Amino acid sequence: MPSLAFFEGKVVPLEEAKISVVTHAFNYGTGVFEGIRGNWNADQEQMYLFRVREHYARLLRSCAMLNITLPYSLDDFERITLDLVQQCGFKEDVYVRPLAYKSSDVVGLRVHDLDDEFLIYIVPFGNYLDSDAGIRCTFSSWTRIQDNVIPPSAKVTGMYVANSLAKSEAVWRGYDEAILLTEANNLSEGSGENIFLIDNGVISTPPQTDGILDGITRNTVIELARDVLGLRVEERTIPKTEVYVTDELFMTGTAAHVTPVLEVDGRPIGNGGIGPITAELQKLYFEVINGKRDEYAHWLTPTYTPAAAPA
Ligand code: PMP
Repeated sequence: MPSLAFFEGKVVPLEEAKISVVTHAFNYGTGVFEGIRGNWNADQEQMYLFRVREHYARLLRSCAMLNITLPYSLDDFERITLDLVQQCGFKEDVYVRPLAYKSSDVVGLRVHDLDDEFLIYIVPFGNYLDSDAGIRCTFSSWTRIQDNVIPPSAKVTGMYVANSLAKSEAVWRGYDEAILLTEANNLSEGSGENIFLIDNGVISTPPQTDGILDGITRNTVIELARDVLGLRVEERTIPKTEVYVTDELFMTGTAAHVTPVLEVDGRPIGNGGIGPITAELQKLYFEVINGKRDEYAHWLTPTYTPAAAPA
């Protein structure tokens, strides 16, 4: 199915959404982006966008960090996105990529006195990691980027060089994903995922101050664990070595969903299978994102008009 993009203020075929080689963001990584899932529910013939508003709220914070000003409100972003998804008409899971960037054709380092642009494209997108079977991870030799280098709380395109190096290193070593540590050797996150461990029934995940992205899946899982499963969730600094003795480990992300981690650097986590609490959380999360939990319908934007009920 041909895809469309929102580009320079209008909807165009994806292949026509092109930037100049001189574009500032292309040369210097001065863009910020989001990743939003559209989850296809075949039974209901419906596509549910997940927590669109929260993604755009985060995009606006990333824009503020990079001195990007856009002429759109949160309502505008939601409307433009919904309209584009509807026009594309996909009937499978999709990934929506909004991107705000320094668009001037100019050579020179800065984030001031430059034009800003905004685009969205949509691609069909299945599993990113094997969330059914679980994955194997390695501690990366790359340290998570520090707040005094590039703010890790902003999704800055240029910052993802560090994450890409970590991901490829992990794959070249024969693993599925990297776990990045802070300078102090505490857990931070995966290359594109937040990380959680479960020990003695208590869930722990690194805090904002350990270089994480404020993940929307992370926040979702924290809320579901506390409110639906009644579990204790702690946001705390976690030393690397806790991973070796924890009962369960999993990662979360828009692309990764809730993905169990079965092994880290050759050491099995727990008994080496998918842990029971991880399995329960994962099931709940999939029900929520696929529109099977009415109490969380407020997190979903249904994309297509339901077929008119027979008279
Ligand atoms: N950390 C990084 C570095 C990421 O790129 C992502 C993906 N956006 C996440 C964590 C997970 O965030 P979210 O759940 O909002 O997708």
